[in-house]
Order: sequence, then C-alpha cells, then structure tokens
Amino acid sequence: MSSCRLCESAFTVHPQEKSFLEKVSLPEPTLCPTCRRQGRFAWRNERRLYHRKCGLTGKQIISVYAPDSPYSVYDQHEWYTDKWDAMQQGRDFNFSKPFFPQFDALMKATPKISVFTSNNLNSDYTNGAQQDKNCYMIFVSDHDEDCYYSYGIDSCSSCIECLNCFKCVLCIECVDCSESYNLAHSERSHNCRDSFFLSDCKGCANCFGCFGLRNKQHCIFNEQHTKEEYEKKLQELNTGNFRTLSSARDVFLRKSGEQQIHQFYDGNGNENVTGDHIVHCRDCIECYDSADLENCGYLIFSSSPKTVSTVMWSSITVR
Ligand SMILES: [Zn+2]
Repeated sequence: MSSCRLCESAFTVHPQEKSFLEKVSLPEPTLCPTCRRQGRFAWRNERRLYHRKCGLTGKQIISVYAPDSPYSVYDQHEWYTDKWDAMQQGRDFNFSKPFFPQFDALMKATPKISVFTSNNLNSDYTNGAQQDKNCYMIFVSDHDEDCYYSYGIDSCSSCIECLNCFKCVLCIECVDCSESYNLAHSERSHNCRDSFFLSDCKGCANCFGCFGLRNKQHCIFNEQHTKEEYEKKLQELNTGNFRTLSSARDVFLRKSGEQQIHQFYDGNGNENVTGDHIVHCRDCIECYDSADLENCGYLIFSSSPKTVSTVMWSSITVR
C-alpha cells in the first residue's frame, strides 16, 4: 500500500501497473488514482466556451480558452491552414535550466486551436467533437446530427440533453442508452423505442415508467396492459403536460427506488475488470465509459480495437 502525498489516503499500485511503469522507465505514482484524475480534469476544459479574438486574424471566435488566457489562440479553421508555421516558435533547449518552465514558455508562444474539433458542419458551439452536423452545445461527441445540449454521444441524431448515448434517434434526457428510438427520460436501456421513463430495459417498446424489463410492450409501471389499455392510459397520463409528466416521474422514481434490483455495474462481455459502463474489456482497473480495452487502467472514454495490443495507464499523465 502507498499513501497519497496530497490526500494521504492509502492506494495500491497494481502489478500490471508496476510492470507497465518499469517498461516505460517511470517511477511509481505518489498520488492516488482520484488525485491523479482531478489533475487531469483540471487540465482539460471540455464544456466552457468563450468569445475571444483569433490571434491570427483578429476576428471574434468561439474558444475553450478565455480571453485573458495566456495562450496564443487561432480560430479552428485558420489553425488547420498553412498560414502559420509552428516551427517558427522553435528554440534551443537550455540544459542548465529546468524542463517545465521552458516547455511552458513554448506552449504559451505556440498557437493553440480554438476548439478541439474536426470535420464538423454548422456546429461551431462544440468541443471535443468531430464529424458532427447541425449540432449545438454538444461535447466529446462524434458522428452526430441535429443534436443539442449533450455530452458523450456518438452516432446519434435528433437527440437533446443526452449523456453517454450511442446510436440513438429522437431521444431526450437519456443516460447510458444505445440503439434506441423516441425514448424519453430513460437510463441504461438498449434497443428500446417509443417509451418514457425506462431504467435497465432491453428490447422494449411502448412502455412507461418501467425498470428491468426484457422484450416487453405496453407496460406501465411494470404492469402488462393490452395495446388498447396502454394507449388509453397514456392519453390519461397526458405526457405533453410538464406538470403531469413530473408527477408520473415521481411515481416512477419512488417505485424504482423501492423495487428495482440493480446490477452492481453496467457492462457486458468483460473479464477481470473494475469500473462502470464498459463493454468487451479484459484485465482493466477502474475504467469507465470504455470499450474493447485490454490491460488498461484508470481510463475514461477510451476504446481500442482488440487487434492492437493495448497497454495504457493514465497514471503516467500526472505523477
Ligand atoms: Zn489522493
């Protein structure tokens, strides 16, 4: 057991991590995984956008760097051009002085891209996003179209206020859902459609306020109804009215809170892993929202083809 030099909590450096650190000639970490994660989060601004001037053209732009940031920032479209040359900031390294102040000075002088995006269309208010079209305020999201106010969505269209969703269409306020259509206020549900308030459901359609169901239709609060009964009751629930929908949500939350049995984590096809919302991973420690990893640790939003021998330990970013 090691003791964190910041929070003083005890933490373990696992054997796989030790062998990786030896391989890349790094010492063992002196910070616990949580403190290391906090350091990485503090380094990366994902969701706060600012108005500022482009350092190349002087035009007003949208950026993840605040106007008073010490960095030189270029509009994303200018940054990708040949109008500037990063080699112009090149300088000799002074071996008699410490590395980090020199590296810091180089980073401040070298233009940074205003937002981390590529190949987007009509999606200026995004960051950590690529191959998106007609999207607004989505972050860490790729291959989406007509999506708004979401985070961590991939290959979705016409979705709003979603988190960690994959291949969803016409979904609103959904978390950790995939391959679903016309789903509202649902979580951890897959291959579902035309439903409200689902939790841990798979292959369900036309259900309202249900949890833990598999391949069901026309259920309300986990009770089976006929198609006609379902349609009549749904009309009575008046889902277009915010107040009645809020009361229905309260009933759902109470029932699911009292009765739902939760799997200890969300994932499938894993072997010898810890973490959550992961699929097809092997020998991984504390990985989240990730897929197809092998012998990895402390990763978030990571995926790798199994054909590549992956050895990644995020602990190397902050010691
Ligand atoms: Zn700590």
